[in-house]
Amino acid sequence: KLIQELTELDKKHFLHPTSPIEQQQEQGAAFIFTEGNGVHLHDLAGNTVIDGMSSLWNVNVGHGRKELGQAAMDQMSTLAFTSCFATFSNEPAIRLAEKLSHIAPGDLSATFFTSGGSEANDTAYKLARHYWILKGQENRKKIISRTKSYHGVAMGATSATGLKPFRDFTNSLAPDFCYVDHASSQSLREVIEAEGPETIAAFIAEPVQGAGGVHVAPVNYFKEVRAICDEYDILFITDEVITGFGRTGTYFGMEHYGAAPDMMCFAKGVTSGYVPLGGVMLSERIHQEFTELSKGTLLHGYTYSGHPTACAVAIRNLEIIEQEHLIANAKAMGEEMLNGFKWIQSEREIVGEVRGLGLMGGIEIVKNQHTQERFQAPLVPQIVAEAAKRGLICRSVVFDGQDTLVFAPPLVINKREMSQLIEILNDSIQAIEKGMMK
Ligand code: PLP
Repeated sequence: KLIQELTELDKKHFLHPTSPIEQQQEQGAAFIFTEGNGVHLHDLAGNTVIDGMSSLWNVNVGHGRKELGQAAMDQMSTLAFTSCFATFSNEPAIRLAEKLSHIAPGDLSATFFTSGGSEANDTAYKLARHYWILKGQENRKKIISRTKSYHGVAMGATSATGLKPFRDFTNSLAPDFCYVDHASSQSLREVIEAEGPETIAAFIAEPVQGAGGVHVAPVNYFKEVRAICDEYDILFITDEVITGFGRTGTYFGMEHYGAAPDMMCFAKGVTSGYVPLGGVMLSERIHQEFTELSKGTLLHGYTYSGHPTACAVAIRNLEIIEQEHLIANAKAMGEEMLNGFKWIQSEREIVGEVRGLGLMGGIEIVKNQHTQERFQAPLVPQIVAEAAKRGLICRSVVFDGQDTLVFAPPLVINKREMSQLIEILNDSIQAIEKGMMK
């Protein structure tokens, strides 16, 4: 009865993010979740499923961590919130900013806090542009990003997002954004030359593209990108919103590539999603130039920039990641996951390329393994629905003509749970494959 009531209210009053509106109206919510524990989620109807996506690539330490509830409780009952505007500050924000300076790649050393990844991206673009104003190069305002990229849904973040359907959702984007091929550094050079280097403020990229279908960049890609940005005096921004905080088997995704960014966006895993938090880090050089050249006020800030409760939860979350060696586990279980994918590839005719880095994984569905020819209509939505019925949540990516399944289980996943994930996945693909063969 409660399910029925909530389903009706959900349809009537709750406009879901990134949702198939028709389907929601017809079928109602697929799951009304009530509880989480480790890699598992439980719903109102009594189902238990493996959260193969860490919800939205973010619940890194897994569900139901009482320590994080306690950290929030402790902070909320002493000082839940206070402003960080102007010269006000608070200890959790200061401690977290210091901690981030030790763990972040290169010499990223100062943090501007936001509530999430979209705000972090818009902040990065504005700070990059402001930096060039401070340097007397007002013409440097264009932001270059990659096709297949996803940077969020704020106006700047949407404009930077390479996945076209997100940009087409609205009919007026922010100006001064341009795009390069997602895997070729030569394409970056060509666009810089075509647009005019003196008009470019920054280039932004995810170390591993997530929402675009888990695309791992070529080994030398980011070293080449760094060199090109240096050559043309362009800021290099990494978007580690998904890849940060252990996801790829290193603290940050850029560690795989040995290239140091000038700025880095983060969110999601910084709190494992227990409370909203994100931010942008600046390298020591950029931060120093900002402080030396700034004369007026830094006119950018959110009410929740430096939220003490969010920062306190983040500090505890990072302690858990380190104390429980979750980064090493992500690396080991990531290898396990990729091996599992390869096994499925050998078993199932409709599985094409499989790929991944740490606990980010992708599987291509194809009509023909040898030619990689795709089905006319994407098959992955059916596989995702089948997997959900069988107890596994994963996600479909159908942008850009892709037919891809993506995975990002919590970093706490163990061998037994990984085997279950692989088994359910194989069974689900087999069920759909059988249907196709009929
Ligand atoms: N950047 C990347 C790489 C992301 O994957 C996301 C969200 O999935 C964002 C930015 C946007 O973050 P948020 O949804 O917290 O605004």
